[in-house]
Amino acid sequence: MVNIKENLKEVEANIQAACQKSGRSRRDVTLIAVSKTKPVSMIREAIEEGIAEFGENKPQELREKCDTLPENLHWHMIGHLQRNKVKYVVGRACLIHSVDSFALAEEISKEAVKKGLEMPVLIEVNVAGEESKFGVSPEETEDLIRRIAPLPGIKVRGLMTIAPFVENAEDNRPVFQKLRKLAVDIKSKNIDNVIMCDLSMGMTGDYQVAVEEGATMVRVGTGIFGERHYTI
Ligand SMILES: *Cc1c(COP(=O)(O)O)cnc(C)c1O
Repeated sequence: MVNIKENLKEVEANIQAACQKSGRSRRDVTLIAVSKTKPVSMIREAIEEGIAEFGENKPQELREKCDTLPENLHWHMIGHLQRNKVKYVVGRACLIHSVDSFALAEEISKEAVKKGLEMPVLIEVNVAGEESKFGVSPEETEDLIRRIAPLPGIKVRGLMTIAPFVENAEDNRPVFQKLRKLAVDIKSKNIDNVIMCDLSMGMTGDYQVAVEEGATMVRVGTGIFGERHYTI
């Protein structure tokens, strides 16, 4: 049996330790509980422990859970998003972490304008250049942001990365450092309508290192809800 309460205590303690080690305030790091594939009953357990930020990677699953659970929760779209699914996410998600093309941003912009809201987004960067991963290369990032920035109904708030799967979390430290440096560089350009205040990086295997390197959001699934089983 997965003990969500105990798991959350441990994750919280680890985040606090990482904040302390790096001289950061705990308030500057948001823990996103990645609930993909997990039932609503488990999400309710996490809510009981005070969690209100949840991450999903499938638009329809996000829609279903968002529409089932209380309204005071915040839903993060963290997975690859196809243009024809944007309509499920805009108006439900508080943040889309996975924008990696102008065409997708355009669709988000259109949908947000239609619904009369502003959609905050992050740009997904494939820092390590892994072929299997979505995201733009670090070199393309600024250019993409400059093209997205003028679109109505969308606001670029920062960068996101999915670091490689590694045995030793330390191996991902340079990846997190690189994402942070990229964000600092782009922030210094003062592009209109771009804030560059958020860095979404770190998962179960490496979130402490990510916090030490400046993550403002960590996305923890397995460490809270246990292993995922994709065949239900
Ligand atoms: C599944 C997922 C996570 C959580 O992964 P864990 O290793 O289970 O913590 C984080 N970010 C993204 C984008 C994911 O798809």
